Amino acid sequence: MRKNIVAGNWKMNNDLAQTETLLTALKNKTITSNAEVMVAPTFTNLWSAFNTLKDNTIEVIAQNMHFAENGAYTGEISAGMLKSIGVNTVILGHSERRAYFNETDELLAKKVDAALTNDMRVIFCFGEELADRKSENHETVVGSQIKNALFHLKADAFKNIVLAYEPVWAIGTGETASPEQAQDMHAFIRKTLAETYGTEVADSVSILYGGSVKPGNAQEIFSKPDVDGGLIGGAALNADDFFAIVNAF
Ligand code: 13P
Repeated sequence: MRKNIVAGNWKMNNDLAQTETLLTALKNKTITSNAEVMVAPTFTNLWSAFNTLKDNTIEVIAQNMHFAENGAYTGEISAGMLKSIGVNTVILGHSERRAYFNETDELLAKKVDAALTNDMRVIFCFGEELADRKSENHETVVGSQIKNALFHLKADAFKNIVLAYEPVWAIGTGETASPEQAQDMHAFIRKTLAETYGTEVADSVSILYGGSVKPGNAQEIFSKPDVDGGLIGGAALNADDFFAIVNAF
């Protein structure tokens, strides 16, 4: 059925030498779980990462992309450019991009379309802020984030969509959603998918949890039935910690 996935989002960390050092350490590790493993270095290191991991099962993925194929968008990177260096998966909608770069649901819908048109797989991120959870609006917020950016798609497109629930209050804070909070939200997401696309599609989509996942809490979070893996920030920058999480299934 659906895949278990552990992806490391390195964010704006690691220069070329640091990237090579971390990848070399990762290459020497053994995956003992059934998880698909991905790492997302920064744009400047994607090509070298792709070459370093060429004969390895770890997939190199991108943290972002622009929706246009090319043109006058100074500083941006297109799906075609990523594909041309062997990158087939892209993270879209991360809360840091929403917060610091004003990415809206509307813009993200265009990016998702561009990625899918280019036969890329999308890890689509979303999640509520602390105020939303405190006011018990977390399901409403998450439901609208998903619907606004994804529900124009045909059912078939979900073959190439992975969802990543990342509550903003748990990112980089050391505060994790409890395994029950993660499970409740993932079940809600799957129900939301099923209402529009049916249970077959809903049951086939992997839903990852992100937000302060560490070696010490990964196993309990991943044991929940609707949690199909993790999107890992800080702990992905250390090879031992990242692999402890990869092998926590
Ligand atoms: P942390 O694991 O550092 O909380 O980051 C999570 C995240 O934002 C992954 O995309």
